[in-house]
Amino acid sequence: MVSRRQFLTQSGMLAGAMYPAMFALGMMGNASFNPLNLEGETKGKHIVILGAGLAGLSAAYELSKKGYQCTILEARDRVGGRCWSIRKNTSNTEVGMGTHQANFDEGLYFNAGPSRIPHHHELTMHYCKELQIPIEVYNNINESTYYFSEGNGKLSNKKIRVREIHNDTRGYMSELLAKAVDQNKLDTAFTKEDAQKVIEYLRAEGGLDIDKLYKASARRGYIESPGAGEKTGRIADPHQLHDIIASGLMDPDFYNVAEYTYELQMSMFQAKGGMDTIAKGFEKVVGKLIHYHSEVTSIKNIEKEVHIDYKDATGKHSIKADYCICTIPLTVLTNIDHNFSSDVSRAIDYVSYISTGKIGLQFKRRFWEEDENIYGGITHTNNELTQIFYPSYDYLSKKGILIGYYNFNEKAKITGERNFIEREKLALEKGALIHPQYPKEFENSFSVSWHKTKYNMGGWALYSEEERQTVYKALLKPDQQVYFAGEHLSYLNAWMAGAFESSRSIVQQLHQRIQS
Ligand SMILES: Cc1cc2nc3c(=O)[nH]c(=O)nc-3n(C[C@H](O)[C@H](O)[C@H](O)COP(=O)(O)OP(=O)(O)OC[C@H]3O[C@@H](n4cnc5c(N)ncnc54)[C@H](O)[C@@H]3O)c2cc1C
Repeated sequence: MVSRRQFLTQSGMLAGAMYPAMFALGMMGNASFNPLNLEGETKGKHIVILGAGLAGLSAAYELSKKGYQCTILEARDRVGGRCWSIRKNTSNTEVGMGTHQANFDEGLYFNAGPSRIPHHHELTMHYCKELQIPIEVYNNINESTYYFSEGNGKLSNKKIRVREIHNDTRGYMSELLAKAVDQNKLDTAFTKEDAQKVIEYLRAEGGLDIDKLYKASARRGYIESPGAGEKTGRIADPHQLHDIIASGLMDPDFYNVAEYTYELQMSMFQAKGGMDTIAKGFEKVVGKLIHYHSEVTSIKNIEKEVHIDYKDATGKHSIKADYCICTIPLTVLTNIDHNFSSDVSRAIDYVSYISTGKIGLQFKRRFWEEDENIYGGITHTNNELTQIFYPSYDYLSKKGILIGYYNFNEKAKITGERNFIEREKLALEKGALIHPQYPKEFENSFSVSWHKTKYNMGGWALYSEEERQTVYKALLKPDQQVYFAGEHLSYLNAWMAGAFESSRSIVQQLHQRIQS
């Protein structure tokens, strides 16, 4: 007897070829996102795809599965674009900073780009399933991590467990509200019964006592853990509300309650072994279509064709195709020669991208786990670091890589202006304020400033409401034979799902055009 899965694997089918077969065998279940409808003929059309990031790879995957002739031009020597994990010997070139190389130990990595998959990003999950990329839970929320506020308040310049601030703030706010409801001071049409129910809710929400007062409870942790015999455990007094406010711990740097946001709600996932295994999964299927090291220098609509110029190590080349899907980030495309319409050209030049950077710090001991019981999650600061991410893989192993900062906008710009050694110095100095173990345990680092990284020059596209109506819409339409795709052409900016959704939509549009 051979199982259906064994049959598919043993018959040597590639992931791409397996999909229709799995559907036919009823193994895929019903995907709740819009399935592609690619009925009809390919009419021998050749499509050139610019960029082997997730948008380009997934477009090539779907189109070649249908039988289209595809060619992918990719400037780098690797697939994935922003979907990139840093391992031993990874190198990166930043404009004005030169090239540097990672010296991490074998088996250790950090994700310089995407690190989290929301459970509702169905297309990302779909491709992980279809390409058989193992995923694991990413621990995005951890009450054991810290808030660290630089400033003058009583609670400033010291690390405070997130659970203390969360529960104290929740308690005080609930107490205030409960008193107001009790004294009928809220302008609401509560009946007496409603008011009673709301107060009961607030007591549960804030951990209030019978008199509706907030007092410390085990929710905010112990200063002496409970244990055997007479060890009841000891709870500290709550922080004073005034101190929390004066120390900036209710500022958006901390209390933006990131985990309440739709995208960051648990469960979250990551690809096992590094997020770039997703890109590599596509590469297994469409890798033969990719010209690596091929930097596009010109894109021209000429009569019913598209002509692309590119250069590689051997010199300059040209390629003609019936259609083009361009997934090159706009920050890079703006410097590429083209003959697009003035609306499209203006849009390419106009859209701005976020500045963002991360640094991976390798430590010889997982002191955050061993000394501080932190397993995954994020520490928040109001200084240049902004966030420290603890790894959500290989818990309890010997060494590990922390993301020593993950910052944005001005903070990322300032950090990015420093050279690689100065960035490391900043991460270590500021990080040691929270984790004094840093100097003793640190081994090496690797930083990426996305807004300075060649072939990206930005984190992700940013649009105002108005720009969504103008420049964004100009890029959603093809310019003659050239279609634009990528995270920048979605409402899921900063997410891999944006790249997938955009490329899927373009594949559908292009196929429909070829049918008509
Ligand atoms: C710091 C950071 C954190 C992120 N976190 C998350 C996260 O947690 N979860 C999540 O889902 N998403 C996350 N994202 C977003 C996600 O990485 C992107 O949305 C997605 O990878 C974009 O894919 P893309 O194909 O549109 O673009 P890219 O990945 O940028 O692909 C474009 C490709 O074009 C190539 N190229 C550029 N210029 C040329 C040229 N001249 N010639 C030929 N090729 C060229 C590039 O090398 C690249 O391969 C994050 C991104 C960043 C930067």
